[in-house]
Amino acid sequence: MSKIRMTTPLVEMDGDEMTRILWKWIKEILIEPYVDLKTEYYDLGLLHRDETADQVTLEAAEATKRLGVAVKCATITPNRQRMTEYNLHEMWKSPNGTVRRILDGTVFRSPILAKGISPYVPTWKAPIVLARHAYGDIYNAVDHICEAGDKAYLTIEHKDGTVTKKLIAEFEHAGGVVQGMHNRADSIRSFARSCFRYALDLKIPMMFATKDTIAKGYDGEFKAIFEEVFEEYKADFEQAGIWYLYTLIDDAVARIVRSEGGILWACKNYDGDVMSDMVATAYGSLGMMKSVLVSPDGKYEFEAAHGTVTRHYYKYLKGESTSTNSVATIFAWTGALEKRGELDGNEALVAFAQKLERATLSTIEEGYMTGDLIPLFYADVEPKKLESEEFLREIAKRL
Ligand code: NAP
Ligand code: MG
Repeated sequence: MSKIRMTTPLVEMDGDEMTRILWKWIKEILIEPYVDLKTEYYDLGLLHRDETADQVTLEAAEATKRLGVAVKCATITPNRQRMTEYNLHEMWKSPNGTVRRILDGTVFRSPILAKGISPYVPTWKAPIVLARHAYGDIYNAVDHICEAGDKAYLTIEHKDGTVTKKLIAEFEHAGGVVQGMHNRADSIRSFARSCFRYALDLKIPMMFATKDTIAKGYDGEFKAIFEEVFEEYKADFEQAGIWYLYTLIDDAVARIVRSEGGILWACKNYDGDVMSDMVATAYGSLGMMKSVLVSPDGKYEFEAAHGTVTRHYYKYLKGESTSTNSVATIFAWTGALEKRGELDGNEALVAFAQKLERATLSTIEEGYMTGDLIPLFYADVEPKKLESEEFLREIAKRL
């Protein structure tokens, strides 16, 4: 068999621990035998980030801007314990944060559905794609614990030197708490663009919600910017037969629970933080959650939503058997290959990506899976627990 050709390379960002092991196997067992794989390789493994003073992360992000499509392996975000474990020069920032900042992108998370693994919410039949605005609000807030007798004001200094001052609260008899937070119109606008663009890509309707009845100025501005940006996409939405709905956050939550899924849900930063964990848990396993970063000008970075699965890696290093779910990492590869194929008009590559996804799902649906999925599986066949590599070989048989 001749291999499928690629015209433009993908940006490949390698990573850490167990997912780095899976990465190599996925390429060897499922991709390279069939595709003449072309990638620009960047090693984002923690040791190499440390050796290059994190330059490699910046280069990988710049390459994504240039080539338009990237696939990323999970990486360690160092904390104090990792500083000693890897003998690091610095506590480098999260690579995901760095890439997101450079691409000004939005992260969309969605579950991978397989027959036999049903969500805890029985009405959910299609994925709920959740977008979190990862800038501002309480995450960059300033707060203060006040004492009795304090008065708190919101003060704005304008360019012309004048000042606007508003009383927030008077703490007459008892102390309390106060917080100042912000967001930026350009960040909200980029977020809105990425969301509308991705809903169009997936051809699914989209919902955005805030609490503008209460936060009239703050959330009112979010609502207005989304409305304004939607004008740019309105005609395309109509043509694709999809809709955009703005509603209140409590109404949105109720609608999501009774929906069938198949919707993109755009969330403000805090709502997205909380709701993404709720939606992910309700769909089953972290190993089945994928994630894509989309920039407002249409650059894509695909990855798994989970981390480097450290606990399994330490077992692997001891030579013990592991049963780590590689599905989300496989789908990161297929997402990137399919997008590359779409952009280059490479139908063979698109078809290959779809077949690999189908083969992966059939493997699970026929009862062959990793340990995390066993307790979630309800079907006529008795599920068999496979080791990490065995699972990939089982997919290869079907591919
Ligand atoms: P994690 O790697 O997602 O793993 C947490 C636990 O969830 C695992 O121990 C495992 O549970 C289960 N799990 C996650 N993915 C799985 C899979 N594919 N197959 C089977 N089980 C899976 O999170 P963490 O342990 O909190 O973080 C480890 C490292 O990953 C950290 O250094 C963190 O900085 C990094 N991280 C990176 C990213 C990213 O690059 N996008 C995201 C999150 C975290 P059991 O142990 O019970 O089997
Ligand atoms: Mg969270």
